[in-house]
Amino acid sequence: MSRIVLVSNRVADLNKAGQAGGVVIAIADVLSKRRGLWLGWNGKIGEKSEEQRTKPDIVEVGGATVATLPLSSREYKDYYLGYANDVLWPVFHSRLDVAQFEAGYYQRYLEVNRRFARALHPLLKPDDTIWVHDYHMIPLGLELRKLGVENSIGFFLHIPVPPSQTFLAIPEHRELARGLAAYDLVGVQTKVDVANLIDYLQDGVLGRILQDGRIRVFDREMSIAAFPVGIDVDSFVGSRPKVLREPARSVTRLIGVDRLDYTKGLPQKFRAFGRFLEKNPDYRRKVILSQLAPPTRESVLAYVDIRHELETLSGTINGKFGELDWVPIHYIHRSTPRKMLVDVFGDSRIGVVTPLRDGMNLVAKEYVAAQDPEDPGVLMLSRFAGAAEQMKEALIVNPYDVEEMADTIKIALEMDVEERRERHRALLDGIRTHDTFAWCRSFLTSLENIRRRRPPTGEPFEAARKAREAKGLASGASRHTRLL
Ligand code: ADP
Repeated sequence: MSRIVLVSNRVADLNKAGQAGGVVIAIADVLSKRRGLWLGWNGKIGEKSEEQRTKPDIVEVGGATVATLPLSSREYKDYYLGYANDVLWPVFHSRLDVAQFEAGYYQRYLEVNRRFARALHPLLKPDDTIWVHDYHMIPLGLELRKLGVENSIGFFLHIPVPPSQTFLAIPEHRELARGLAAYDLVGVQTKVDVANLIDYLQDGVLGRILQDGRIRVFDREMSIAAFPVGIDVDSFVGSRPKVLREPARSVTRLIGVDRLDYTKGLPQKFRAFGRFLEKNPDYRRKVILSQLAPPTRESVLAYVDIRHELETLSGTINGKFGELDWVPIHYIHRSTPRKMLVDVFGDSRIGVVTPLRDGMNLVAKEYVAAQDPEDPGVLMLSRFAGAAEQMKEALIVNPYDVEEMADTIKIALEMDVEERRERHRALLDGIRTHDTFAWCRSFLTSLENIRRRRPPTGEPFEAARKAREAKGLASGASRHTRLL
């Protein structure tokens, strides 16, 4: 079996993979089993002279090799905060209105990717399988190809792919597409993402779908497939809350757990809860919304705005409905220990996961996994979270429709135990089948099969065609296209 080489913006602490959860557990597992290598930024911001550095610091952790480089402060500002988080993050989440298309960001983004490629090149072996992660690193594969690397290189995008017209608004969209075309396999979270990417490649850069389902673009042939990210289910199952469940407690908790990000739909969630209280006075004093929202990317301006908006909104709703002995919204702007999170999920009757747009949303899966199967809570899930494509037994809502969300809170609170159990059983089955280890295995198997000229096992082109049809788009495939 060939060695696995991972590249991502940050590397996680492999000694604490269990605490990090999500994809890190699966990645740590595969790295140690296949004596892999992981290259990324070490989280440090150094001098300008670091920009010349292509020799990473290397440590061995549990059979894997971790190679890291620092960024200079200019690189941190233009590559990380700038192009990655002020251009690609908002545009890929369909928020052109907050994107900051500043001159110089893209150039530095490219330079950092080039430097990381140069740092990786001497560490590579001829049969390594290379797996590049996320929007910070789109050009990395092409930079490796320019250095003569012919290995299988796959790329996985953890965030959504926007509709073609939105993608086209990025001034450097052609360069990004050229970067994507350097990979043998591009993995995305959902079938809709596959369809959006194929649309864009056809509309924006004259991509052509081949007979075997691959896409030909810029003289290269690439496969695109969906590999929905999962969780490590067992780290959530079986933990029953002791801390929070006091027999005498009479309030029912709705829980929200989201990084404080403008894509998470937090103002809409607060408004919907306020509207619910307005429409249902009988429920006042009987329910609370606990929203845990740890800080993130606080040096990006749009994040300062959302923080102020939420503080004002929670204050307004608490001021309007609160009593001396009841505060309707508990808003906590801090990180919470993972163990506590599992307990709070298990203690909450409704999981309110209502992002305006989200690549997958692991909180939705974690909430379901933490429920008591005999008396499970109800998941309220945005139709615009990638997770909604799999989690059809949740109560699916439109996060822009405050009225609908307010009414759905009532439906969830009043759902009988039989229906809750049935929905929970189906959701948990799906989460178990598509857990984080299955995600990792299926991406790597697909990438390695491409080298052996076998089709990917992820959601293939056919799924993309169906998704396009479901969206009412004309299919880009000719009728005789052989499916993957
Ligand atoms: P995103 O990747 O956009 O942040 P996800 O829902 O996919 O969204 O993943 C978020 C992860 O961060 C989840 O595993 C969740 O448990 C964790 N998390 C979110 N909020 C907190 C918090 N307040 N404290 C600790 N962990 C959190």
